Amino acid sequence: MPNTHRTLTPEQIIRPEILALSAYHVPPATDMIKLDAMENPYPLPESLRNTVAQLAARAPINRYPDASATELKATLRQALGIEDEMEILLGNGSDEIIQIIAMAAARPDAVLLSVEPAFVMFRMIATFTQMRYVGVPLHQDFSLDLPAMLEAIAKHEPAVIFLAYPNNPTGNLFDAAAIVSIIQAAPGIVVIDEAYHAFADVSFMHRLSKYPNLLVMRTLSKLGLAGLRLGLLIGRSEWLHEFEKVRLPYNVGIMTQVIADEVLQQADVLLEQAQTIKTERAKMLAYLETIDGMTVFPSDANFILFRINAASQIFQALKQRRILIKKLDGTHPLLENCLRVTVGTPEENVQFCTTLNTIITEITS
Ligand code: PMP
Repeated sequence: MPNTHRTLTPEQIIRPEILALSAYHVPPATDMIKLDAMENPYPLPESLRNTVAQLAARAPINRYPDASATELKATLRQALGIEDEMEILLGNGSDEIIQIIAMAAARPDAVLLSVEPAFVMFRMIATFTQMRYVGVPLHQDFSLDLPAMLEAIAKHEPAVIFLAYPNNPTGNLFDAAAIVSIIQAAPGIVVIDEAYHAFADVSFMHRLSKYPNLLVMRTLSKLGLAGLRLGLLIGRSEWLHEFEKVRLPYNVGIMTQVIADEVLQQADVLLEQAQTIKTERAKMLAYLETIDGMTVFPSDANFILFRINAASQIFQALKQRRILIKKLDGTHPLLENCLRVTVGTPEENVQFCTTLNTIITEITS
């Protein structure tokens, strides 16, 4: 018998808004100086790595992990100074937490609002979950346009607002009083994404008890544990209780649980590394500012955004010399000719700065 079974094509099955997306691009970085993804460049100290190896060897990986990650949560509470009244929800990276929140809030026509430019996953996850995305442009200097935000809030009544504090890809902290006005005006929840908290010294965590619609999100990724994939949401149980229903039961694996638990018992190690990164950031900022034609944006994160003519050409030339940073030129009108570099080790930073200088001299001569 001839095979008459016909299946539909991806174009017929997949939602049009997914067909229209491009996957989040992660460029290959083998043998490159990797300054594109806001990772902490430092490994753990030898003794801690040995402890981690023993923990990994003993971990019962034939069993599912603790679905409620009780021990890890207790350690996080201690290490991050989370108040007893607040609950914690864990995600496989904070990316997953954004997705959990959006899935839970995606009623028909519900709006997810953020600023532009912002972390691209806010917009992407709104699309995944069929939420309507509203992006309110920042000012030219990347500060919040508060009147525009308040107008958009009144007009669209967003179910969820995401604000990264400091913001990615711009590196700046928004005005805290402006954020408070947004929290007070918002009919829905406001998630303050503090992925870069370790480099900023300020937080909305202490305001959680004051505003019933406020949630704070953190991640261990920028602190030095990006490979483990652990993010957390902190907030009132009335919200987290609902989000817990959407979280897949074993989303945080046993290796992540035991290793994060151990490393966080010695969180000083990571905080010292963050301190070194801050010192390096200041050095890089000072150097970049001396380059002719360069606009360097202030940063409270572990990366620096800068604007320079022929940014795309410079990005390619750096790549040819095996230095990978992030090209933002072309992603948003406000980011024209902008590049973003993650603060690396002192050696990597010197290499980046001198190579950049050489390339600019070559291009302009
Ligand atoms: N929020 C912001 C603002 C980010 O820049 C990132 C990563 N680039 C994330 C969240 C996600 O981090 P992770 O999933 O590694 O926790």
